[in-house]
Amino acid sequence: KSVLCVVGTRPEAIKMAPVILALKNEPWAQVRVLATAQHRNMLDQVLNFFGITPDIDLDIMRPNQALTTLTARLLLEMDQVLLNEKPDVVLVQGDTTTVMTVALACFYHRIPIGHVEAGLRTWDMQNPFPEEANRVIAGKLARWHFAPTEGSRQNLLREGMPDKDILVTGNTVIDALLMTAAKDLQIGIDLDPQKRLVLITSHRRENFGAPFREICRALQTLAANNPDVQFLYPVHPNPNVKDVAHEVLGDSPNIRLCEPLDYAPFVAAMKQAYLIISDSGGVQEEAPALGKPVLVLREETERPEAVEQGVVKLVGPNYERIVTEAQRLLDDEAAYRDMARGISPYGDGLASGRIVKTLREHFS
Ligand code: UDP
Repeated sequence: KSVLCVVGTRPEAIKMAPVILALKNEPWAQVRVLATAQHRNMLDQVLNFFGITPDIDLDIMRPNQALTTLTARLLLEMDQVLLNEKPDVVLVQGDTTTVMTVALACFYHRIPIGHVEAGLRTWDMQNPFPEEANRVIAGKLARWHFAPTEGSRQNLLREGMPDKDILVTGNTVIDALLMTAAKDLQIGIDLDPQKRLVLITSHRRENFGAPFREICRALQTLAANNPDVQFLYPVHPNPNVKDVAHEVLGDSPNIRLCEPLDYAPFVAAMKQAYLIISDSGGVQEEAPALGKPVLVLREETERPEAVEQGVVKLVGPNYERIVTEAQRLLDDEAAYRDMARGISPYGDGLASGRIVKTLREHFS
């Protein structure tokens, strides 16, 4: 059977890679990899790291491309891909425009979809940022829902998805993380091993503009108040992020701004970090598994499990809360230990095996 695995962005590649590698061991499966390349460089470095070469590459990224244009171009390209490939099943991962568009194209071509990381919800469809709509639409169209947690399963049931089509697998991000963290990793940036490290990522669309400036001001204050702590921030290339980060943080002597790190060096940085401050979805899932507290630069999250367990805390893009909570974790050992318990509600590293087993039982 032909299984077409689709990846568009860095997090999709990280989370789909373990599924692709597991499928390649299945005699019944002819695995084909489609890169839409909604992100180019950041996608390529992940595929390289996992030794995956796309069979089809749409190279869809254009400078300043609107999401509507991206969607329209992708739909047209997918028509051809599906006619040529005639896959028996298509796997998509997450909540990007790639996922929503590929799901729609497959639906029109009557090709079943497996949605990896299904059922995440903020229940906020008024939020003008695309992730919630993308995952709701992909979810409605999917034949198999591979839900990372029981909570995401409940979300799908609440939307009327049939119980028999939902499987709680854990998140494949933990599969990728454990495969990677076991290796001998280097950050590749010269840091002082004697100093505590605060690792930062922030590039979510909903924070662009004033919220992102406020985040940067908070980081600047934290760095100024803690000259004995080093801050590492791999900055996303989007000008909404890059320009402001360099303008506000460029002169702080203990803040190191760098290009996005490749996946393995980034995992090394997470392992070395004392504290992580981020608005990333994937980082919220990875850090608890490594026993690292995360302050999340958002007011809501579709990943509530770690927040409920007290190992991740929402601080918003809010100056006061970012400064206060980070300072507390830097100063108060008991508060720190409480958040650094190494609890991972997102999986045990065996999610891709469960996904593959479902497909094997169906197709072989
Ligand atoms: N990541 C990376 N290099 C970096 C920052 C993040 O490889 O410089 C990885 C990180 O380990 C995680 C993923 O990229 O698995 C998160 O991607 P992103 O924050 O762009 O997207 P989200 O998870 O919010 O969808």
